[in-house]
Amino acid sequence: MSQTLIAVDKVSKSFGGVIANHEISLSVTEGRITGLIGPNGSGKTTLFNSIVGYHPIDGGSIKFEGKEISELRVPQIARLGLLRTFQQTRIYSKMDCVRNMLISVPHRNASFGDLFKGYSGEQKDKAENLLEFVGLYQKRHLISGDLSFGQQKLLEFAMALMNEPKVLLLDEPTAGINPTLINGLIDRLKRANEEFGITLFVIEHNMRVIMNLAEHIYCLAHGEMLADGNPDEIQNDQRVVDAYLGAH
Ligand code: ADP
Ligand code: MG
Repeated sequence: MSQTLIAVDKVSKSFGGVIANHEISLSVTEGRITGLIGPNGSGKTTLFNSIVGYHPIDGGSIKFEGKEISELRVPQIARLGLLRTFQQTRIYSKMDCVRNMLISVPHRNASFGDLFKGYSGEQKDKAENLLEFVGLYQKRHLISGDLSFGQQKLLEFAMALMNEPKVLLLDEPTAGINPTLINGLIDRLKRANEEFGITLFVIEHNMRVIMNLAEHIYCLAHGEMLADGNPDEIQNDQRVVDAYLGAH
């Protein structure tokens, strides 16, 4: 049943003299929520960037559904169904939520003119349904820059869902979010996984969140893979406690 969707094998990436990732290997299983933790600067975001084709890697292999993707760039990888969200949100703050949703789907959305005059049809219904899913339906016609930071993150999550990804990589989804919105976000992530069948790979600093969400967790330190296991194993792994959890 459980199939490896993303297979990262001995991936390395340096920036000048800084070794951000050194021979990292991991796998993301279809249908699961997989976690990635580690101290600041341990190379988590770099690994996500490598997986989605944001920059070339120095060595190793990245496979998606068995196919080598390490030579592909962001748009090609996105078309295969592998998407990410960012540590900082990327929305068009002067457009309303529905237009942000429509514009998030390259080539398949309404025409450029439609985006500014009005819009209709299937895509609009889908956008509104997903805004309802993340709890932003009432705010769908608000300029997105007027949303709170947490609501902007929910919008960004809904924009990713618009693309019907097979896998979604989320870089610190709860960072900077008001604690009252965090439980709602966890709930939505779980439902996206369970109801829409989207495989999730999540970088997260909030230990309560990641231990609650992920079935399997990898821990990086200094650009290297330190440990992996289920939440219990990770919480009780002395190397993880020393390198990371001790500071939390
Ligand atoms: P994390 O997401 O775990 O906090 P990053 O992957 O952002 O870690 O960073 C890992 C290391 O790589 C850090 O030392 C960081 O300064 C460096 N780094 C990341 N991206 C770049 C870049 N574009 N240019 C130069 N150095 C970078
Ligand atoms: Mg990061």
